[in-house]
Amino acid sequence: MNKMKPIYEPKGKAKEYGDYALNIYTGCPHRCYYCFAPNVLHKDRELFHSCVEPRKDIVEETRKQLERENITGKLIHLCFTCDPYPFGYDTTPTREIIKLLKKYGNHVQILTKGHGNRDFDLLDGEDWYGVTIDGTGAQFDLMRGNDLRNASRSGIKTWVSFEPVLSEPFVLAAIRRLAFADKVKIGKLNYYPSDINWAEFGRKAEALCKELGLDYYIKDSLRAEMEK
Ligand code: SF4
Repeated sequence: MNKMKPIYEPKGKAKEYGDYALNIYTGCPHRCYYCFAPNVLHKDRELFHSCVEPRKDIVEETRKQLERENITGKLIHLCFTCDPYPFGYDTTPTREIIKLLKKYGNHVQILTKGHGNRDFDLLDGEDWYGVTIDGTGAQFDLMRGNDLRNASRSGIKTWVSFEPVLSEPFVLAAIRRLAFADKVKIGKLNYYPSDINWAEFGRKAEALCKELGLDYYIKDSLRAEMEK
């Protein structure tokens, strides 16, 4: 029987998130309309959003893989096909996974639209806490910004993923507001129509990052539009 390998190397666009990733849950309740995860997992969209539980034996299988493959010194992205902090669910498995990865000498790069404060005590200056800011819910973006600031104050590295971009003015204002972050990654909206002029947006965003002295990364799909 094939051994489960929860830690894997993402391919294609996903690789821009990190060299290693681990997905903890079977689905995500956040229901972002642009969510790509059901397509990646070949899952029914409604099932993906409504049936959210830790993947079977995820903590134990991660421990076995860490031990078996002696995985250490890596930065591991949480998560790519789900959110590590799904609203309304017990996120103890996320806490257990972080503890395990770090026990074996790895670091984590969290990306969430949820609320990861409960695990800040586990993180240090080599771990990254990141939030997606997409402008779909002002109060949630405010909460995510506050979490980011708290993480930064706790000495954790912070980053912001501006992808997908749904509104140019919103994102440019948010880059300015969250300029305390250690890194920002900026993309576009893929797979859906948009009336944003991507080349123009990309140039404005890049100029702003330079003005603010930010460590920034322009995603390949946006960079390609800027170079057309
Ligand atoms: S938070 Fe991420 S995984 Fe969850 S629905 Fe939104 S895009 Fe999909």
